[in-house]
Amino acid sequence: MTKEGSVNCPVCERTTDMSWCAREDCDIIGAMGEGDFEAGVQIFFDQWDDEVFQSIEVAMVTDPKNWWVGAHLWWGMRMRNMLRTNGFLDDRSPSGNLDDIYVELIEAAVKKWADDST
Ligand SMILES: [Zn+2]
Repeated sequence: MTKEGSVNCPVCERTTDMSWCAREDCDIIGAMGEGDFEAGVQIFFDQWDDEVFQSIEVAMVTDPKNWWVGAHLWWGMRMRNMLRTNGFLDDRSPSGNLDDIYVELIEAAVKKWADDST
């Protein structure tokens, strides 16, 4: 029996209180549709100049695991909405919620930028 308010993770099917369980071994990116991850990365990659990439990279290096936490409520939601206004809607996330994947998309866009500029 699952406790009230909890659901099964759409990726690994284990019980979670959130839209996605966010466990270390739960591969939400791997559960995305073919080409969806790359398409989301490309939206961020196309929007930003070097200055933006640089400032995110600094934040990521400073706190690789939690760099986005303090920024989620304003900056992060703006970034998530940027995906939506570019036609990348919540149904592209296996959990049905872009909040669960936008950070990974941003991290991959920054990595792509860093790889391209070396
Ligand atoms: Zn899961």
